[in-house]
Amino acid sequence: MHSSKPLIVVFLGKSGAGKGTQLDLFKERMGIDFIGSGDLLRNRKKVDDFTGNKISTVIDNGGLIATPVVFNLWMSEFERLKSKGDTLKGIVIDGSPRKIREAYLMTEALEWYDWNDNFKVILIDVSDEEVLSRIANRRICEECGEIVPYVGELKRLTNCPKCNGNLVKRAEDAETESVKKRLEWFQEEVGPVIDFYKEQGKLVTINGNQAVEDVFNDILAAIKQDAND
Ligand SMILES: [Zn+2]
Repeated sequence: MHSSKPLIVVFLGKSGAGKGTQLDLFKERMGIDFIGSGDLLRNRKKVDDFTGNKISTVIDNGGLIATPVVFNLWMSEFERLKSKGDTLKGIVIDGSPRKIREAYLMTEALEWYDWNDNFKVILIDVSDEEVLSRIANRRICEECGEIVPYVGELKRLTNCPKCNGNLVKRAEDAETESVKKRLEWFQEEVGPVIDFYKEQGKLVTINGNQAVEDVFNDILAAIKQDAND
């Protein structure tokens, strides 16, 4: 039966698209398991061996971890979650795949565990212009340091939602430059991943240019509609 299979979801989005917020909401409200490549690597680097030490060095230098290293960590997690049997409701995966090679491996791994049929890739889609505008217009509270994203209803706030302090813009050129670099990286590396999933019929594109709740409702509607097909 279709519904008895666990739902496997990957989230993709440019940095600044609001992917992290949506992912947290999704985990919380769906009550499903989570695999984050960032968390897996942070744990792995605590081990004092060659790979543990090398992960620290590569991350500190802003490099990317070799695909087989990341893949090895996912496989252990997949195996652990598979052993939950029928109690496994689903898995949300964050931080991978980030290169086309990782996408090929992910597909094979999901096929191995018989999870590929109920697999969806959620793309939180925003334009580069929108990402840059969010960075340029983001505000910070002078009193408590709360960061107020320039998105949806929050655009209208004039005072801090936490302490009512004054909000000031805080755009730094260095930050804008690093965001531009990340946007280029996304286009080059993640672009082919998106095309691949589109061809496979796995891609669900969500308009990220809306308030947080509206983005989230679109995600839920897209997943529900698919389950009823
Ligand atoms: Zn404040």
